[in-house]
Amino acid sequence: MKTIIGLGSNMGDRQKYLDAAIAQIEARAGRVTAQSSVYETEAYGYTDQAAFLNMAIMAETELEPYALLKELNAIEAELDRVRTIRWGPRTIDLDILFYEDLLLDDERLKIPHIDLHNRFFVLEPVAEIAGDYYDVRRKKTVNRLLEELREKNEQ
Ligand code: ATP
Ligand code: CA
Ligand code: CA
Repeated sequence: MKTIIGLGSNMGDRQKYLDAAIAQIEARAGRVTAQSSVYETEAYGYTDQAAFLNMAIMAETELEPYALLKELNAIEAELDRVRTIRWGPRTIDLDILFYEDLLLDDERLKIPHIDLHNRFFVLEPVAEIAGDYYDVRRKKTVNRLLEELREKNEQ
């Protein structure tokens, strides 16, 4: 199954955490088939914290969505992530952005990611590796969502 995962880090050696997370995803979730460049972004939401490095990867996984989330959470925990405040500083954050053409709206798991259309740091890296990906929640491609966010920010 094809999935797109968003990675973010804003604590410690951020690049090292991204690299370690990708290696762990390869080992435990499935083959990584594409990687975006790394983007440096000011913090979002809770803004009084260090800048993030963000990127997106595409992977081919045998895991179903909840099993994938469980592995990603385990990788986060192993990479020193301590859960405090939402949107707070973290060594690594791994979000499932897309999973095939699945639309899932559960308390624990929402796919496609609920807020990705508002985030340059998600749309830009995803557009690099999968601009034509169709978002079944917004009913638009990633390229289109990025265009619209740019237009919105110009106003
Ligand atoms: P945001 O989701 O707005 O990017 P965040 O990544 O900082 O915020 P977390 O504290 O990492 O939020 O996660 C909170 C919860 O979100 C997780 O425990 C998980 O159950 C849930 N969640 C819902 N949808 C997803 C998804 N698509 N990928 C990862 N986690 C998700
Ligand atoms: Ca996140
Ligand atoms: Ca998360």
